Amino acid sequence: MSERAALPLDDAVELRLDPPLYDDSHRSWQESLRRFLEAEIAPHVGAWDEAGEVPVEAHRACAAFGLTGLGYPEAYGGCSEGVDALHHVITSLEWGLLGAGGVATALSTHAIGLPPVLAGGSEDLKARVAPRVISGDAIIGLAVTEPGAGSDVAGLATRAEADGDGFVLRGEKTYISGGMRADYLAVAVRTGDSGAGGVSLLLVDMDSPGITRSPLPKQGWWASDTASIHFDGARVPTANLLGPLHGGFPLIMRNFNTERLAMAATAIGSSRRCLADAVAWARERRTFGRRLADHQVIRHKLMDMYRQIAAAQAWLEQVAGRLRAGLPVAADIALLKVQASLLMEFCAREASQILGGASYIRGTAIERIYREVRVVAIGGGSEEILKDLAARQTGV
Ligand SMILES: Cc1cc2nc3c(=O)[nH]c(=O)nc-3n(C[C@H](O)[C@H](O)[C@H](O)COP(=O)(O)OP(=O)(O)OC[C@H]3O[C@@H](n4cnc5c(N)ncnc54)[C@H](O)[C@@H]3O)c2cc1C
Repeated sequence: MSERAALPLDDAVELRLDPPLYDDSHRSWQESLRRFLEAEIAPHVGAWDEAGEVPVEAHRACAAFGLTGLGYPEAYGGCSEGVDALHHVITSLEWGLLGAGGVATALSTHAIGLPPVLAGGSEDLKARVAPRVISGDAIIGLAVTEPGAGSDVAGLATRAEADGDGFVLRGEKTYISGGMRADYLAVAVRTGDSGAGGVSLLLVDMDSPGITRSPLPKQGWWASDTASIHFDGARVPTANLLGPLHGGFPLIMRNFNTERLAMAATAIGSSRRCLADAVAWARERRTFGRRLADHQVIRHKLMDMYRQIAAAQAWLEQVAGRLRAGLPVAADIALLKVQASLLMEFCAREASQILGGASYIRGTAIERIYREVRVVAIGGGSEEILKDLAARQTGV
């Protein structure tokens, strides 16, 4: 066996969808999704990142393929029959492998905005909103974070005062993904006393008067617009309440688990992309009369990436399997996200080092992934907050 054949590096960047965890439906979903992303999305990621947004046609293409409806009820145009946690994990891994986190985020805000509507909205509200989102005709996001309340979600101050048959909103949300273009936002508001027990969730129609939005330029995720949103007397009908009055906090927490697992899987996918590009470069590029891959220091870097990716992937699959079996996973999801963001940080650095100056030139996947590392370590629950959450969950 040649030395090269003995190194399953190409395998390391592939998803090995082995039985018994994965079945044919997972494999065919992964194959068709990859074909779709390669044909319809990959050729445009650089241009969309530079433009700072994805075109509306991309939302419609994702919807037509079935991405936007994955896991949602058939009654609203989705596909939930036979869909499990592994299909979602595969989806996030494939988005990560694409190496364009901003594009992935811009096309996926429904994954944090729509579940609270389906879990807590009235039948009328669900029937009005869900089909529009699933068909790609409307954009939905989630607005929890405020200038004065990020990690400390229960400290949020945006007020919703009951007034006749609705609520009047006053306050400010910040760092909201898709906030500039969203048709709907699920907004966490204070309807009661201080603390988690006074928080409600409202679905806000973003065309309502009394709402202003401002864009926030940022380090990475350029294709995903991020907004500050100011509510100054915006009216929201009582019928748009998601879940019970003062009962929004559990809905927000449930959402966080899904978001964190998706972010972890996407980070692992991006780490695979770093390894794939670094391997390709190291096999091609020659220095001091040899391939980069023939220098021992570079070989160690590649193997350090490989071993950490394989370990994170195994943990990801174990967590997804437990989730599918209905077992408790909150602490593992929290720590897995920490592990995955540190992995992505490590792989982005090592791949950049292997590519040298080429990795610093705008438009390459490594350059983009390097800019996306920090938001993965902070957004959806920072490393410090998630370790603390896991410590509480595990009874330390
Ligand atoms: C690009 C981007 C997109 C985002 N999209 C959305 C979105 O769509 N919707 C939404 O609601 N939010 C969104 N967020 C917000 C994100 O979830 C928050 O940034 C995150 O929860 C952290 O809150 P913060 O930035 O206010 O940091 P803070 O809460 O101010 O924390 C600052 C630092 O202090 C640390 N820290 C805080 N408390 C403790 C403690 N008790 N012990 C130890 N360390 C602590 C944190 O870990 C962090 O490192 C987005 C953020 C970004 C950057």
